[in-house]
Amino acid sequence: MTSGGATGGDGVRSDAGGDPLVVVGGGITGLAAAWEGMQQGMDVTLREASDRLGGLIRTSGMPLGDGTTMEIDEAADAFLARVPEAVELCEELGLADRFTEPAATRAMVHTAEGLRWFPDNTVLGVPLDPSDVEATGLLDEGGLASVRSEVARDDEPLTGDTSVGALLRERFGSQLVDRVVGPLVGGISAGDVDEMSLRATTPQLAAAASRPGSLSANLGEARGSAAQGPVFHGLLGGTGVLVDTLARELEQRGAELCTSDPVGRLRDEDLEGHRFVVTTGASTAADLLCGVSPGAAEMIATIPTATVVLVTYVFDAADPTVGAAVGSGASGFLVPRGSGLLLTAVSWGSNKWSHWNDGRHVVVRASAGHSKDARVESMSDQEVSAAILSDLATTAGITASPAAVRVSRWVDGFHQYGVGHLDAVERAERTLASETAGRVAIAGAAYRGVGIPACIRQGREAVRSFGGGVRLDGAVTPR
Ligand SMILES: Cc1cc2nc3c(=O)[nH]c(=O)nc-3n(C[C@H](O)[C@H](O)[C@H](O)COP(=O)(O)OP(=O)(O)OC[C@H]3O[C@@H](n4cnc5c(N)ncnc54)[C@H](O)[C@@H]3O)c2cc1C
Repeated sequence: MTSGGATGGDGVRSDAGGDPLVVVGGGITGLAAAWEGMQQGMDVTLREASDRLGGLIRTSGMPLGDGTTMEIDEAADAFLARVPEAVELCEELGLADRFTEPAATRAMVHTAEGLRWFPDNTVLGVPLDPSDVEATGLLDEGGLASVRSEVARDDEPLTGDTSVGALLRERFGSQLVDRVVGPLVGGISAGDVDEMSLRATTPQLAAAASRPGSLSANLGEARGSAAQGPVFHGLLGGTGVLVDTLARELEQRGAELCTSDPVGRLRDEDLEGHRFVVTTGASTAADLLCGVSPGAAEMIATIPTATVVLVTYVFDAADPTVGAAVGSGASGFLVPRGSGLLLTAVSWGSNKWSHWNDGRHVVVRASAGHSKDARVESMSDQEVSAAILSDLATTAGITASPAAVRVSRWVDGFHQYGVGHLDAVERAERTLASETAGRVAIAGAAYRGVGIPACIRQGREAVRSFGGGVRLDGAVTPR
């Protein structure tokens, strides 16, 4: 790996077979773009501002307090297995034998009366059968009545976009949103369901709502034809294995990967003879692009973000309060927004992953921070860790002192997709293609999905678009 500006936007090697590709950003989107560029026979340079590749994906050895260490993910620990992009990329890289499935898949939800099971058989918390919600005790009779009545609804197909919360409050009542859907969907991207775009963040719900009749009935029909098999794959060794393997394979094939090499504001002359895929967060992308595509930069600059802190605790498995907490066998629990706690979600890591379960330690990963709660930004690591420990006592009864603690901060880690987000992104893409004569594309978690598969898809599609999807007049073929 090259470090420190060995290759600039102006100094990229040329390739007689086609324009060289410059990938800006070395997260999973940028690495996937570089990989696709190599598959297309392009001369690829990837430039990463920080001193490491992977961006929001990081797996590192955590000291357990007894002289041993364990490789534990500091952010993503899994990816969707029922969409093809991450699975296929892992297969291309020879990583399929590293796939592992979570041993615990069902979560619980914090309530004032204690932890309750999350309902079975839902699509993002929307029940296919009201009796599954009833069995959890999460909703009172009034809340259940609203959920039950949805099955008989005869709604017109929804056109356009709305917020996840607005649609579901109207159809299922607010209790389901506040106690079930909100903690799950809001937690996935650290957002507020009442502001999140239905189309951009929950395409399954948007597709069901675009058909007439009951949403739960439509979801049930779609479920019948959906792919089977595990919902998530982890990777033995952690998700960082994907980053490390991609980097190694890219270098072996001749790609130039430059770390500690931030790209500055692009100028028209940088674009001559090159193609750029910009995969940084939205505000950086807006700054990089304002000189070559002011129109696109202006649109991209408006995409907001939220900061999240993930604290990993290692406890002694022999502690009775820890044993009682993880003894349910749950994968973890979600915390509804109205609770007033700093904690938003807890993953019982050792229940979930066999590779974090050595029988002696219990790994707990706890999250805080979301679009409506920026308290973590002004708290020190020690303060965040102590506040979450206090919340773990309140919610799960853990009173033990951890043997080890690690605080991972993900500043602006989650882009927020507001209502109309996809239309805005499409406009930005068209403007960018038009203003740069199709030489620059944007991709990544700011635009068309935050999950690892969605990022891989966007990185690869951006490169493929240079070969045909985007014409030089700026017209974009539909994705
Ligand atoms: C706590 C947490 C948990 C998550 N859990 C999951 C999960 O379980 N499953 C899942 O699928 N997804 C998960 N995600 C989401 C997923 O990991 C991210 O959305 C995805 O990794 C983002 O990849 P990216 O390449 O688009 O962006 P990034 O990873 O942000 O990469 C952008 C890169 O651009 C670089 N950069 C910035 N400015 C410049 C510049 N001027 N020049 C060059 N480089 C620059 C940055 O340093 C960075 O490395 C999680 C995210 C977080 C934060």
